[in-house]
Amino acid sequence: MAIRRSAAKQHGLPSVVQLRLAPTPAQADALAVAVRVCNQAATYISCLAWQQRTFAVLELHRLAYHSARATVAGLGAQAAVRAIARVAGAYANRRATRKRAHVFRPSGAIPYDARLVSWNRDARIVSLWTPTGRVHVSYAGREQDLKALDTLPMGEADLICRRGVWLLQVTLTLPTRRTREPVNGFLAVDQGVANLAVTSDGAVLPGPALSGTIDGNGHVRSLRERRYRQRRRLQKKGTPAARRVLRRLSGRERRMMTDVNHQISKFVVREAERTGRGIALEDLQGIRSRVRAHRLQRRTLHSWAFAQQIEFTRYKAARAAIAFTLVDPAYTSQACPECGWTSRANRPARGHFACTRCGLAGHADHIAARNIAQRGVAGWAAVNQPHATGLPSARRDRESKPPASVRGS
Ligand SMILES: [Zn+2]
Repeated sequence: MAIRRSAAKQHGLPSVVQLRLAPTPAQADALAVAVRVCNQAATYISCLAWQQRTFAVLELHRLAYHSARATVAGLGAQAAVRAIARVAGAYANRRATRKRAHVFRPSGAIPYDARLVSWNRDARIVSLWTPTGRVHVSYAGREQDLKALDTLPMGEADLICRRGVWLLQVTLTLPTRRTREPVNGFLAVDQGVANLAVTSDGAVLPGPALSGTIDGNGHVRSLRERRYRQRRRLQKKGTPAARRVLRRLSGRERRMMTDVNHQISKFVVREAERTGRGIALEDLQGIRSRVRAHRLQRRTLHSWAFAQQIEFTRYKAARAAIAFTLVDPAYTSQACPECGWTSRANRPARGHFACTRCGLAGHADHIAARNIAQRGVAGWAAVNQPHATGLPSARRDRESKPPASVRGS
């Protein structure tokens, strides 16, 4: 069962704005001390937590609060509370890292909550806690970000120094908007391997449809292949220097994929908005566990890139008040969107679709995207019909579609 309501329907969305701080040299020194002390405290608490196998906030507070304040010079009461919450969060989100104590980078971003920061928005000055006292620092940012900062409820802020520039990244809660009714159906994206993504309109992304830094699909793919080979070589070597190069490589690759995903999601959301449609994507959970796993888990596409694409699209769609839904990915590559016939025989060659019943033929990823779009329409109708609450949506979804015939698989 893969149909979910758009996240924006339920609650407001967080959005992050970045402010550039202009500290005096003395203030910058104080901020640097704050970063060092907070990260040192977090690592100290993290080691305690790990040794005692205590990961929940309340128990961790009892265990670590006094000892952290006694051990880490300059750690204020509220900063200690934040550090404890941060450690608990780190272990909660990454169960795997419980194998060893989580270490916080000495210069990593540190969180400021409402008690550690206060604002004079008229004067554009922010007051930040440091171990050596509060500093009142002026800030600047993009016009629309400053406007949002002046009007929207604020959450936590992250203080970070990047290449000598002090930044404050502030989380704001965007107001909830009613999702527009997708009057012209759904735009779907098939995230395949042969192409990064193909829409139900037949656009291949990234491609000529996307302007910007992408040189086209082939470029991204060959770059990834090259990186893969390079990585394999370095993995075999296994020396510390090789491992360092490896880390840098994967970071560069990640950044490139993130950029590509941003551009794809931006394009898809803009296109859906322009044409009055919703957006449907395949459910990642399903992708991992079901029929297409073999195809999608090839090395050319990391599963995190899929997850990221879903999140980016979901987020941008919600921000634009566009209907977004995930659909069941089963047999999207074998079903005929015209006559409904589903069979492995519909795929005579890789990348090609030809329905053995009605003769519809085309690019396999494009056909898959059309199937996803149809499921999006059916799923949206099932969940959003009036009086739909009486029935589980999974059952309604099945009822709204003709039964899929499955053969040869
Ligand atoms: Zn057909």
